[in-house]
Amino acid sequence: MATKVQNPMKEPRYCGIATFMRTTYATELNDLDIALVGVPYDGAVEARSGARQGPRQIRDMSSMMRSIHHVTRINPYELCRVADVGDVHFSQIFDVQASHADIAGFFKRLHKAGIVPLSAGGDHSITLPIMKAIAADRPVGLVHIDAHTDCCDEEMNSKYSHGTPFRRAVEEELLDPKRAIQIGIRGAANSDECWEFGPKHGIRIVYIEEFNKLGVEKVIAEARRVVGDGPTYVSFDIDSVDPAFAPGTGTPEVGGLTTIEAQGLIRGLRGLNLVGADVVEVSPPFDASGTTALIAATIMYEILCILAEKIAGQS
Ligand code: MN
Ligand code: MN
Repeated sequence: MATKVQNPMKEPRYCGIATFMRTTYATELNDLDIALVGVPYDGAVEARSGARQGPRQIRDMSSMMRSIHHVTRINPYELCRVADVGDVHFSQIFDVQASHADIAGFFKRLHKAGIVPLSAGGDHSITLPIMKAIAADRPVGLVHIDAHTDCCDEEMNSKYSHGTPFRRAVEEELLDPKRAIQIGIRGAANSDECWEFGPKHGIRIVYIEEFNKLGVEKVIAEARRVVGDGPTYVSFDIDSVDPAFAPGTGTPEVGGLTTIEAQGLIRGLRGLNLVGADVVEVSPPFDASGTTALIAATIMYEILCILAEKIAGQS
């Protein structure tokens, strides 16, 4: 890790090479607690593409983040060693399974070094190889915030798409479905099988209508009940947020979360046994204002705060 000669938080935010949250770019994995990772891959998208450009745009907008959280007063950089470890390198970008193997390999290195990953996608297919790396030794629980269950059996005759990762994760025993909750689900489909798989296997689905009825606090309580004390992964698909806020995504669905609801949900996961997280499906070509990437960067910062607090043993 390069010696830090300046405090990047004190530099003008438009200066320097963009890293996630203005953290140091680390080329080695020594002395790190949390790695911020870019996964610029969207080769498994069935709708509109562009999420491969997500990490670069989120890095840029994340320069708007500061250090101390205005509600919790958490400063993740005082609690943990945090760095941007760059992007996953792809050896065969046109081959989905080879690309997933590259992703799994990258995250295995982090996992072996005891580093907790917080990633920016990329399409949602990237979560399966991340889970292969960090959940190989035991299945994890899941808080999954998304308009879609991503529990289809296949899309376009492929088992590995951005609509299938959580079904594969259950089948491969990376994900404990009884400790999984999906929040914000909505939008029409051509088949109901993607909605039916989860409940059949014990996944708790909170459709957006139930979310609106219960409100943020009760949904948080339900999420905490479902995942319990065990190791838990957080996966945040930006299309969970209403496209009025976050239009820059491949599969937008109206009638979604507000930004403040999304932030509240993440804050409500404080103290859980979190082992990693991702924010996926930001598609900069559809993000004319840059607001979608700003929301993604803010959600990453919210997650970073609760991760750092947990890792530092203060929650
Ligand atoms: Mn998704
Ligand atoms: Mn989605």
